[in-house]
Amino acid sequence: MVDLLAEDTIVALATPPGMGAIAMVRVSGPRAVELVDSAFAGRKTLWALPSHMMAHGRLRASDGAGAEVTIDEVMVAVHRAPHSYTGEDLVEITCHGSPLIVRQILQLFCARGARLAEPGEFTRRAFLHGRLDLAQAEAVCDLIQARTERARRASMAQLEGQLSRRIAQLQERLADARALLELDIDFSDEDVPSLDRQRLAQTLEEVIDELRALLQTFQQGRFLREGARLVLLGRTNVGKSSLLNALLECDRAIVSELPGTTRDTLEGLVDIGGFPVTVVDTAGFGVAGSEVEREGLRRTEREVERADVLVLVLDGSEPLHAEDRRLLEAYLPGLAGGPRVIPAINKIDLPRAWSPAELAAERAVELSAKCRVGLDRLREAVAEALMGDGRAGGSEVVLSNVRHWEALRQAEEAVARARASLAQGLSAEFIALDLREADDALGRVIGRVTDEEILAAIFARFCIGK
Ligand code: GDP
Repeated sequence: MVDLLAEDTIVALATPPGMGAIAMVRVSGPRAVELVDSAFAGRKTLWALPSHMMAHGRLRASDGAGAEVTIDEVMVAVHRAPHSYTGEDLVEITCHGSPLIVRQILQLFCARGARLAEPGEFTRRAFLHGRLDLAQAEAVCDLIQARTERARRASMAQLEGQLSRRIAQLQERLADARALLELDIDFSDEDVPSLDRQRLAQTLEEVIDELRALLQTFQQGRFLREGARLVLLGRTNVGKSSLLNALLECDRAIVSELPGTTRDTLEGLVDIGGFPVTVVDTAGFGVAGSEVEREGLRRTEREVERADVLVLVLDGSEPLHAEDRRLLEAYLPGLAGGPRVIPAINKIDLPRAWSPAELAAERAVELSAKCRVGLDRLREAVAEALMGDGRAGGSEVVLSNVRHWEALRQAEEAVARARASLAQGLSAEFIALDLREADDALGRVIGRVTDEEILAAIFARFCIGK
């Protein structure tokens, strides 16, 4: 499979067409230099160009009637194998950012034997040639799609191999443990000191702790990567639309003094504590009269189901309504596995009609959407809810990929089984089996994956040209 793929020379546009003054076309594979050189007219041939240097010249092609025409004036960089992004000969052509020029260049190379790259194929080749491990390859995609500075930092850390190194360290510890077991298996009939069970138990304990710490970062990592949904919930007129506006810092939602004006859901994307958060305003939970209102309520319920964080908005300037109490009863206790609920007492610029103590909730945030007061406290509470229990021990390593989470969970289970077997005094062979399984699971994170379907699914998430 590997050879078959690498035999082709692939070509793709690496920048979106029409997006700027310049565009980049990348050609990778054994014939990359030859192909580009066949159309390149510069002071030197590309064969003579040292690796990682650029040359100025023209791309020339036949006009179909026997004459040669210039397609574009270009800069060409040659990156020779194995020191290129893909690990193959890679030629990057910087041309003018015209969709027409780009199409002609792609067509030219396809006519001469290259084929258009699949999404993610350049990175996939980098993986196949050992330039990146799988966790790093996946980070490339996350990096391109990162929507906040914190998400970018987390993917950059993964691309630089921080997760891979943590995995490798864990594998080393497992290898130590297995070596102790091997010793016991090999010499079990002889008169040598038997297995140092205490030392082994200690190692397994540490590996489990480390795995759990990593697993706990998953919630935060998933929200960093995929973003989170924050749903503003509350009866009509408590100030949900005003709060949405305040959070979005613009007039995205229409604020009105008439109760029930937000019939539909409105939303906007903001950066809250480094998380890309979609804030959703909902139709108030009021008494549904008309069909339009009933539809609004149905949508609100659907939004609540999809929420990662619920901000239950209350009006501090009016006594609590029956509807407020119903919502508090229904949502404040929070459901296991359900969204975190943050009560927000709005309109604190007005005289208070009730005390926050009535809520019996520690985390209530007091604010004024209208006067833009208390918003930072709300943002902090939201960020905290999104962080969950995961603190990655000060390092930037954050699990963000469900595939990694699943593999680490399996590893953790296998090591926990080994620890239990050890405690029960079971034989070394038995314990070794579980540790081997743990090692395999860890290996899957960084790339001992040969399953074509899994690889295809991973690289299909990429854009073309990367
Ligand atoms: P929604 O129905 O929950 O979306 O509520 P709106 O955002 O439409 O607000 C209802 C009314 O409350 C409007 O007249 C707002 O100007 C007013 N309002 C919202 N937030 C505040 C606040 O913090 N202080 C004061 N004094 N009025 C507010």
